[in-house]
Amino acid sequence: MLEPKKKYGELAPTERILLGAGPSGVDSRVLRAMSTPLLGHLDPEFIEIMDDTRDLLRYVFQTENTMTLPMSGTGSAGMDTVLSNLLEPKAKAIVAYCGVFGQRMVDIAKRTGAEVEVVQSEWGHIIEPEQVEAAFKKMPTAQVLAFVHAETSTGIMQPVKDIVKIAHDHGAVVAMDCVTSLGGAPVLLDQWGIDAAYSGTQKCISCPPGLAPISLNDKARKMLHNRKSPVSSWYLDLTMIERYWGQERFYHHTAPISMVYALREALRIIAEEGLEARWARHQLNARAFTAGCEAMGLKPFAQDGYRLPSLITLAVPEEVKEDEVRQYLLNKFQIEISGGLGPVKGQIWRVGLMGSNSTRKNVMLALTALAAALNAQGFKTSASAALEAATVVYNEAAC
Ligand SMILES: *Cc1c(COP(=O)(O)O)cnc(C)c1O
Repeated sequence: MLEPKKKYGELAPTERILLGAGPSGVDSRVLRAMSTPLLGHLDPEFIEIMDDTRDLLRYVFQTENTMTLPMSGTGSAGMDTVLSNLLEPKAKAIVAYCGVFGQRMVDIAKRTGAEVEVVQSEWGHIIEPEQVEAAFKKMPTAQVLAFVHAETSTGIMQPVKDIVKIAHDHGAVVAMDCVTSLGGAPVLLDQWGIDAAYSGTQKCISCPPGLAPISLNDKARKMLHNRKSPVSSWYLDLTMIERYWGQERFYHHTAPISMVYALREALRIIAEEGLEARWARHQLNARAFTAGCEAMGLKPFAQDGYRLPSLITLAVPEEVKEDEVRQYLLNKFQIEISGGLGPVKGQIWRVGLMGSNSTRKNVMLALTALAAALNAQGFKTSASAALEAATVVYNEAAC
């Protein structure tokens, strides 16, 4: 008999302020929903909860797509679901990217066996429509254009309209990653003509990680049903998943019951606030935080005019040690922020003001803490200048 290696204590995690690239903070209402009694995954009461969740997801995605549901798994499961259901061996796809998450899309698209044409833009910059046009010249029969709306590794929000038009003009469907924009910045699937989209629960939806909301319109769904080969992943096969989430209630895999409770509650909170008010809140707090950082002598990393309201990227000043600042914030203030990924590792910080964490209180606290951390590094800066600059933004917005 193997015995437990020691006596394990009950969990007592520190209450951090999660201002990194995700997960973001969760409202206590969501945690309470998760601790309510379990129902069976085919219980009529649970089926009602599933239907509520799908309705609320359609609101948050701004879509009437029937095929709108949360996949079991994190945001990357959503990415895998959308790409591996739309693509198959011999299919053709264009993936446009300028960051780590777009790169992940390329990786997944290639794993489906599809032929993939890659459009690459500079990190911290958007993808220009001309680049997408050029890719369609090279691969005129591409059936899918995939891109990331909110690139969490660089802080860029990709303009959608022009590249969607190019794809549709060439008869391709558009697949969009909106993991870091859904619930924090406008995502209007139907109005924008997005054919397939996926997100995650732990960014601007302010729910723990564990589900990946997806939505496919009829065009994308038809493409799925016209596949020549079955979806290579059994677990993520939407032709079966839609039978569980649809009228049939066909058993596929056991839904993560408590996660669905959590998502329903998080979406209910979004509906109570209203999407437009929520987008405006994210915008205002991001503006105030950025103004404060600039007053401290920090420079935003992402291209001006295309900055995400949910995730602010800052260039690390040369004389400052990127990781020591993060450690200082964690140890002295219980604040988590993120460092850079891939080629910008060590060069940028990523500060998330997502969902319930996008507040004036957090902006002021993060600015104060960041100033202290920078001063501790010998980068002389003034917290009061930062707070004043942020306050100006808030005061202007109030009138
Ligand atoms: C976080 C993120 C993902 C991956 O989500 P996980 O929940 O970490 O699997 C995918 N795309 C973008 C843009 C993200 O920010």
